[in-house]
Amino acid sequence: MNGVPILVTGGAGFLGSHLCDRLLAMGQEVLCVDNYFTGRKRNIEHLRQHPRFEEMRHDITFSLYIEVWQIYNLACPASPIHYQHDPVQTTKTCVVGATNMLGLAKRLKARILQASTSEVYGDPIVHPQAEDYWGHVNPIGIRACYDEGKRCAETLFSDYRRQYRLDTKVVRIFNTYGPRMRPDDGRVVSNFILQALRGEPITIYGNGTQTRSFCYVDDLVEAMIRVMDQPPDFGGPINLGNPCEFTILELAECVLRLTGSRSRIIHHPLPSDDPRQRRPDIGLARERLGWEPKVSLEDGLQETIRYFRSLAA
Ligand code: NAD
Ligand code: UDP
Ligand code: UDP
Repeated sequence: MNGVPILVTGGAGFLGSHLCDRLLAMGQEVLCVDNYFTGRKRNIEHLRQHPRFEEMRHDITFSLYIEVWQIYNLACPASPIHYQHDPVQTTKTCVVGATNMLGLAKRLKARILQASTSEVYGDPIVHPQAEDYWGHVNPIGIRACYDEGKRCAETLFSDYRRQYRLDTKVVRIFNTYGPRMRPDDGRVVSNFILQALRGEPITIYGNGTQTRSFCYVDDLVEAMIRVMDQPPDFGGPINLGNPCEFTILELAECVLRLTGSRSRIIHHPLPSDDPRQRRPDIGLARERLGWEPKVSLEDGLQETIRYFRSLAA
């Protein structure tokens, strides 16, 4: 839409900054709103001079009166270290922040997409997880501020759709990685790459048989935009992620091979509530969006390793 931007909350974060890049490349106007809690200015530094890019420092737990035509709500710390740093603020961002963005969308009659998460499935009893699985979440554990916050945000999105006929979209994002992940976020991909590059021991939590499926950021951004382009009758939730499942030990071995590192593997205790298995069922995304991830773990890791090498240089 001419002159009116698309709002990306959390636009200075890992996923948000790639989404801003992609929307600008598509010719859109983009307004990035971020409070820089986990996001970094360097992630959007290259966009500062872009004529269709604007940024605003703002915390979405406070109301926001602006004019936009679409909203991608990504604002929320995503890594356990960061979302557990100030758990009350995490829940507020998920719930109060989502309410404010839904209120904004309602006033503007704008389409709004929520970045939800596979964590809504908790430590799943059903495997792989399809969208109709209700999850297995501890409501009072250390992950609850995020898991339950995101679940409540999904409730709000569903109720604004039912009650106000708002055009909402909910995507459940599974583990995603790529350049611009924070080196200090404690995620497994960034930890292993940094440890391998520094020749430090690779820290596997538990015995390393727990599984995850890792989606490269470009694949994920493509899918989010396809969901936003769906007609109003489609609100999701829809799983987005890579269905190729690896054990954490396999990931460690792959990182060691690709970096040529001689780091050894050591074991640390498994954090509490750490899900044993996680793999998306992306049948709905395949059927509805004609989408599936294209980037292999090896290719995606190569790009990510290149990025972390460039940070060290
Ligand atoms: P990130 O931490 O890099 O980005 C989140 C951004 O939100 C940061 O820029 C942060 O400063 C900003 N933010 C946090 N609280 C805010 C607030 N109250 N007001 C304004 N801005 C705020 O994380 P990410 O990996 O880019 O995740 C983006 C979104 O995707 C999050 O909502 C996350 O829950 C979701 N998600 C990510 C993954 C993943 O694997 N990366 C998986 C599932 C879901
Ligand atoms: N809101 C906002 N920007 C807007 C419209 C609303 O930030 O342009 C916030 C407002 O602060 C409110 C929340 O969104 O608390 C929910 O709005 P809604 O209209 O759904 O609820 P109400 O204002 O009736 O509480
Ligand atoms: N993990 C690990 N070593 C690390 C960091 C994480 O073995 O240095 C494990 C962690 O216990 C979990 C998996 O890797 O089983 C993925 O962790 P991450 O924090 O990246 O994502 P999430 O648990 O949110 O899926």
